[in-house]
Amino acid sequence: MTDPVISARDLTVSYTLGRGLLGAKTQLHAVDGISLDIEKGSFFGLVGESGSGKTTLGRALLKAAPITGGSVEYRDEEVSHDLRDLSGAALKDYRKRAQLIFQDPYAALSPRMTVRDIIAEPLEVMGLTKSRAETDERVREIAGRCRLNLEHLRRFPHAFSGGQRQRISIARALVSGPRFIVADESVAALDVSIQADVLNLLRAIQQDMGISFLFISHDLSVVAHTCDHVAVMYLGRLVETAPTRSLFARPLHPYTSALLSAIPSLDPDETSQADKLEGEIPSPTAPPPGCKFHTRCRFARDACKRDVPQLRELAPGHRVACHFTEEFDFSRAPAVAPRRADATA
Ligand code: ADP
Ligand code: MG
Repeated sequence: MTDPVISARDLTVSYTLGRGLLGAKTQLHAVDGISLDIEKGSFFGLVGESGSGKTTLGRALLKAAPITGGSVEYRDEEVSHDLRDLSGAALKDYRKRAQLIFQDPYAALSPRMTVRDIIAEPLEVMGLTKSRAETDERVREIAGRCRLNLEHLRRFPHAFSGGQRQRISIARALVSGPRFIVADESVAALDVSIQADVLNLLRAIQQDMGISFLFISHDLSVVAHTCDHVAVMYLGRLVETAPTRSLFARPLHPYTSALLSAIPSLDPDETSQADKLEGEIPSPTAPPPGCKFHTRCRFARDACKRDVPQLRELAPGHRVACHFTEEFDFSRAPAVAPRRADATA
């Protein structure tokens, strides 16, 4: 039984770039026909190299990037929204329910506002509280949940470390009472020791408040330790999506396998260079035909250059877009045991 908070069907986000010499416009498909369901209350990971379209997909699900094809539906206990034609009061309502946590805690916070005002701003802009006292109470409650001290509320962001600033950003995203949060590379700018701290906080929020997360990361090892479900994206398409345990136990797409091989092994004797990813991700303005990954896939055959593979379910909840996955064993992945972040808290 499924109960998704977000359902995308054949979602496309295309940008028209400047005209060339002959007046031809170039189309860039940042998101190229993606279908996915994010289950209510889940911590859903999205991974892929830089340039694969993760940020654009996340923003489209927040109606912050143009939906040029397909559909996105949001649904919680109270309302449902079709994001294609969302405007006016309905869009305002969606802004309250769906929020973004940025990557860079330094750039995201206004240096001239106190922490209290930074966290309170969405409440004031959206008109969600009736008095200053009510706003203050809400800010204090959320600051506490994000493990900020109440005396911190009077200070300015420069007084804080990277991890504390990220907690301020998280508090700001939470204050309107969202049901769905996109966390885009939210720990990438932090030291490894602080990353675990912030991940534990996000997991605690997801569990205590029942908020659904799309957790975007270029780092598969972070996702392995945090997410319930993982989708792997390449050049605007999903190539594999699975429960985390299933993905790490048996990756079915050669791209996923290559990403896994890139995770530094714990065993210094193990030299798993076999699946190492060669070359660079092609430009989305001129994607390869057929399977977009075929130019970098050492298993590619003629059919891969011609036919676009669709996602197929090969194990419960485990879907892959590869013509020949049954013929190869991509599962010789380095030993990265999926572990819940909260298990170490
Ligand atoms: P990722 O987050 O995985 O690194 P992005 O979603 O940022 O990927 O970008 C995917 C592709 O879309 C890139 O080639 C990027 O240059 C392009 N892109 C993103 N936003 C825009 C935009 N507003 N206009 C034109 N191209 C864009
Ligand atoms: Mg990005």
